[in-house]
Amino acid sequence: KNLLNMATIKPLPELLINQIAAGEVVERPAAALKEILENSVDAGATKINVQLQQGGVKQIRVADDGFGIAKDELQLALTRHSTSKISTLEDLHQITSLGFRGEALASIAAISRLSLASRQVEQIHAWQILVEGKSVSQPMPSSLAQGTTLDVNDLYFNIPARRKFLKSEATEFAHCDETFKRIALSQSGIEFVLQHNGKARRHLRAGDPAQRIASVLGEEFKQAAAWIDEQSAEMHLHGMVALPAYARSSRDTQYFFVNHRFVNDKLISHALREAYRDVLHLGRHPAFVLFLDIHPGSVDVNVHPTKTEVRFREPRALHQFIFHAINKALASPHKELPSGEL
Ligand code: ADP
Ligand code: MG
Repeated sequence: KNLLNMATIKPLPELLINQIAAGEVVERPAAALKEILENSVDAGATKINVQLQQGGVKQIRVADDGFGIAKDELQLALTRHSTSKISTLEDLHQITSLGFRGEALASIAAISRLSLASRQVEQIHAWQILVEGKSVSQPMPSSLAQGTTLDVNDLYFNIPARRKFLKSEATEFAHCDETFKRIALSQSGIEFVLQHNGKARRHLRAGDPAQRIASVLGEEFKQAAAWIDEQSAEMHLHGMVALPAYARSSRDTQYFFVNHRFVNDKLISHALREAYRDVLHLGRHPAFVLFLDIHPGSVDVNVHPTKTEVRFREPRALHQFIFHAINKALASPHKELPSGEL
């Protein structure tokens, strides 16, 4: 007889619910870093400082100078399904922020020792809360000068099964660095600093997209690339595509952003591959950094918890648009952007 059939049904404890969700949202340190960085961007930060220890497993500390969180909302920020970014179904169809699901911090808090300190602009000083498992402290005064600082320590300390899946420190750092690059490429107006084990790894000053592309991907890429700047009634595609001579043996230099969000989309990849088809040798991959601005109502970002998948309302039109824009740029490349800016 199957004993499972005789178990009674009961609701799961809150902590366990968050730990289950974390399995999806916080696959590895880099995934936690992505969520934390997106929150800093959504908070209007102009400077974001990232400090990692041991590939992010020991510590992920992100300090921003954004608008902060009110003292009496600190605990709420770590509560599942609590968000300041949407409140109605209409909002869900017009997403302009990177986050909106209100589950990242709750998930991260359920699998780490966490400290959240924040000073909301109107407040006289900052407040801080500490979380470990089910215990959440009351807000305590903090000396933080501005913005929000999130400290995530000992990721997966209470989930040994997940800890076993972590790769070497170098590999986890490489994933974090990639996440950092994606966010930094899409936010050239923000200054970014990245440190690992106390050593400075990247310092990106605020600038225009072209400067940011050069400082993240190197002058070599920028020199070998042509500009794209195509506008239609519904969308705007801009950025840089490498000319065929720069083609890579891997897909490591492929960055496509939809409304500032890095996406990995089959339709877009297909349009790009098709556009490069006649000029690339077999086994070579195009390199590009492209930004698509499209009306938020024309794209559904609520497809997957990590939001790297999206759905377009008019996929065929988009495919055509991208294909033609890239094709044109490859046929008669603009090495200098005529207007001088993206
Ligand atoms: P979401 O980003 O989907 O709203 P999160 O769990 O990532 O959900 O964050 C919950 C809430 O905490 C956010 O809606 C925001 O109000 C607040 N928050 C998180 N990080 C920051 C930050 N760096 N600065 C200001 N507010 C923040
Ligand atoms: Mg978020």
